[in-house]
Amino acid sequence: MLIVQKFGGSSVADAAKIERVAGIIADTYNAGNEVVVVLSAQGDTTDDLIDKAHEINPNPSKREMDMLLTVGEQISVSLMAMQLEKMRLPAVSLTGWQIGMQTNSAYGAARIKTVATERIRQELDKNRIVIVCGFQGLNKFDDVTTLGRGGSDTTAVAIAAVLHADKCQIYTDVEGVYTADPRVVPDARKLREIGYDEMLELASTGAKVLHNRCVELGRKYKVEIEVLSSMTDAPGTLVREDSKVEKMLISGVAADRNVLLCTIFGMKNEPGQAFRLFQRLGAAGINVDIILQSVPHDGDKCMAFTVRKEDEAETRRVIDEYAK
Ligand code: ASP
Ligand code: MG
Repeated sequence: MLIVQKFGGSSVADAAKIERVAGIIADTYNAGNEVVVVLSAQGDTTDDLIDKAHEINPNPSKREMDMLLTVGEQISVSLMAMQLEKMRLPAVSLTGWQIGMQTNSAYGAARIKTVATERIRQELDKNRIVIVCGFQGLNKFDDVTTLGRGGSDTTAVAIAAVLHADKCQIYTDVEGVYTADPRVVPDARKLREIGYDEMLELASTGAKVLHNRCVELGRKYKVEIEVLSSMTDAPGTLVREDSKVEKMLISGVAADRNVLLCTIFGMKNEPGQAFRLFQRLGAAGINVDIILQSVPHDGDKCMAFTVRKEDEAETRRVIDEYAK
């Protein structure tokens, strides 16, 4: 079998964790599989690099940020290859550009265009374990790009798609996908399976277990994604099409703390009032999510809605204008 295994930053945070992960990779390889490993930057490396940049320039260009941040993944892949060498296993580390990971030019949030398969195939044919940098690519100007925070998941699924891998395993610091965040809701249940659509919904409403673009790619190219922990041997969660194993009306709940609830009291109960408000918010480019309206009382009604926290100042300005 050809297996793609991705390990997140917390799974490769230090030498002991690298050794543990190398054990998982070695077991997979020694069982007779072809193995492609995708790694993220160790622990808080990416955040530390961002801090370093801001010490020098609070407003660096996105191009230079990508040049800086891609270093984190290169540290991880080279160290992992060295660990495997020590274990007398054949391994080779490769950057995004060495594997032909072509992206568009949106620095900091690049989208994958194509992934070449030749180099990875050649290395696999030499019986090597191939260790690839997640999160990075190259644009048409031969400049380095990154796929956005958490983008290594997307690298792994893209590689699994182009190589027609038999398995794509995403190892993380939780044991799988839960019905709610297990750190917040202690009796949350681990799901054995979940469909792409439900997973996408969870990922985009705050569940941090998978990068939402990796779920989109998985759905598009029908890559089954297994989410599991590198710390325990417990079975994980399979993200696949039409998961019918657990017929549930609600698959899970996610929390997003980056929202602001705005309530307007004393709105006139006349047609067109809500339209006037939301038209202004829309014109200001403010994304309104949930909207609630109360039953009118004494000719007045009350309207509540949520916006992103970063839009607070602009939202206040629009509401003040509206209330005039
Ligand atoms: N190291 C990058 C980040 O922290 C990519 C990743 O972790 O997937 O965003
Ligand atoms: Mg990371």
